[in-house]
Amino acid sequence: MLNAIRSKLKPVVTNNISSAATTATRHELSTATGSADAYWESVKHTHTVETVEPVDAAAVAKPEGFFRVVCISDTHSLTDKLVVPDGDLLVHAGDFSNKGSKADIVKFNEFLGRQPHKHKVVIAGNHDLTLDESNIEELREQFRCKDTETPAQLKALLTNCIYLEDALVEVEGFRIYGSPWTPYFFGWGFNLERGAPIRAKWDLIPNNVDILITHGPPVGYGDRTTGGNYAGCADLLEAIQSRIKPKLHVSGHIHEGAGLTRDEFGILYANASTCTHRYQPVLPAIVVDLPKKN
Ligand SMILES: [Zn+2]
Ligand SMILES: [Zn+2]
Repeated sequence: MLNAIRSKLKPVVTNNISSAATTATRHELSTATGSADAYWESVKHTHTVETVEPVDAAAVAKPEGFFRVVCISDTHSLTDKLVVPDGDLLVHAGDFSNKGSKADIVKFNEFLGRQPHKHKVVIAGNHDLTLDESNIEELREQFRCKDTETPAQLKALLTNCIYLEDALVEVEGFRIYGSPWTPYFFGWGFNLERGAPIRAKWDLIPNNVDILITHGPPVGYGDRTTGGNYAGCADLLEAIQSRIKPKLHVSGHIHEGAGLTRDEFGILYANASTCTHRYQPVLPAIVVDLPKKN
């Protein structure tokens, strides 16, 4: 199936892919395969993916003039024994719950309250589905949610952090933008089809963002599944590299893709999943020191 798609698309895939061809390729491949696998295969030789060692926060004190960002994600309500290193900013890139129950949200908020970080920024993931106002009735029915609170009421329970949903916040001069959307995957929360629907969300991201948080990774950077597929978002990669160019991108979602990488523009990509593929909450936080803004 994949080979057939690849050979069919060969004429439009060149070293110097035009924007129209890229769009057609992205759309066709993602709709047919449900992943960006073949797309990445066709463009990966044009990109650098360098593995980077995160800061060892236990061993290295924050240098003078730096802002320490501590990234976690995908804790899935398994926070009882979780120890997170201190820093200026704690980022959680979504999937803090299992199915968005009120109990999970309250538990997560209490966990956040115990953390020492001066600033805490959180987005939702596909598992935090009761926060998805766009599709709440259908999701509640599909996942048999018992809580009756509205998404707005549940979000209001997150009192110990700044919750971002397609929104920007400025923290100590850093422009931080967060968005929960991921390419369609069995109809969980904040799912959108690849191509135009999800691209419309990435189009909302302003320029000059320093730290971009999305629940899912872009294709090629922290998105390889245990099956060897690249499940990230091709449209997100294009938005990041051609326009937004943040210093740091933080995601989770593909638990087995956890780690820190850097591209040819010097952009860092942290897949900060805390849980492994088997939902063991043992992966270390990814710590990055950024030069202070002011
Ligand atoms: Zn997850
Ligand atoms: Zn997820």
